[in-house]
Amino acid sequence: MQAGIKIAGVEINPGDRISIDIPLPSFYTHSSVNMPVHVVHGRRPGPVLLVSAAVHGDEINGVEIIRRLLTQKSLDRIKGTLIAIPVVNVYGFVSKSRYLPDRRDLNRSFPGSEKGSMAARLAYVVMTEIIPHCTHIIDLHTGAVNRENLPQIRARLTGDPELEKLARAFGVPVILNAELLEGTFRSAAHGNGIDVLLYEAGEALRFDEVAIRAGVRGVLDVMSELGMRARSRKQRKVEAMIANTNRWVRAAQSGILRSLVATGSRVEVDDVLAYISDPLGENSEHLVSPVDGIIIGKTNLPLVFAGEAIFNIASYEEIDQVAENIDAYHEELDPSTDYLKSDEPPLV
Ligand SMILES: [Zn+2]
Repeated sequence: MQAGIKIAGVEINPGDRISIDIPLPSFYTHSSVNMPVHVVHGRRPGPVLLVSAAVHGDEINGVEIIRRLLTQKSLDRIKGTLIAIPVVNVYGFVSKSRYLPDRRDLNRSFPGSEKGSMAARLAYVVMTEIIPHCTHIIDLHTGAVNRENLPQIRARLTGDPELEKLARAFGVPVILNAELLEGTFRSAAHGNGIDVLLYEAGEALRFDEVAIRAGVRGVLDVMSELGMRARSRKQRKVEAMIANTNRWVRAAQSGILRSLVATGSRVEVDDVLAYISDPLGENSEHLVSPVDGIIIGKTNLPLVFAGEAIFNIASYEEIDQVAENIDAYHEELDPSTDYLKSDEPPLV
């Protein structure tokens, strides 16, 4: 039997499943603000996994991933502990904004401080109340507003075969070996010796069914890899590949963008990716791919300024294999809207 834990003054015993509200600085209307946290504290000892979403307040796919995750029956028998925080940046979530009301980016404000800026205080609450309990984190993100990411895992994998195993277990076809950026949640948690996977999928302020299904399944499969739950009986088809590099293709001129490729497309050097022209259809220019690769991110807004990042392309050695994996993966997760009509736990 594992020991009890205490979060925000609340005692949680082995076998407990409980929702806690962690108090945050109130709105200036005097309305109180809480961060909702759900804890599933298993009877048997094991890893403590935090699944967090909406660190950027407008990145809402992860909120839905956590809602569906918490409907899974297998959570009743886990080894170790699952801590779920569907909305970390409560203020940004309410205002449908990536940022906090003081216009700071929470994901550049870690580890934070008790007496610092609004963002620093929120980061500090997470670092003091939650992080000391954790052994592993999956932080759920999406692309920015009007930007879409192909579902992908980002993690610092260099010299870390254990983390690489978890990244592969998540089961999306694209993994980026990504360095740590100072001030991010990932970097601060890493500094505390915690293994962190970042899941990037879909677009801000939108639900993306494939991204959500892949996210629920990914978290469950990582929990299996960690020994927190039994393995899914269903055999997963998709093998992940680690990208060596990725680069952005930028607009050479301002104008109206007509994009020819979707996320997940395989492109070759000099392939035409898009046309940009002015509103009269004059001064047309085409945007070509500088590399062989897979489109892992793109803008969805067809109005662009010169210099704007339009496509994110990842390069691989085994590119044919990656392209095949992405096709198989889309086939497997192709959304049916049936699930949206019910409150039943989804098939994942
Ligand atoms: Zn984000």
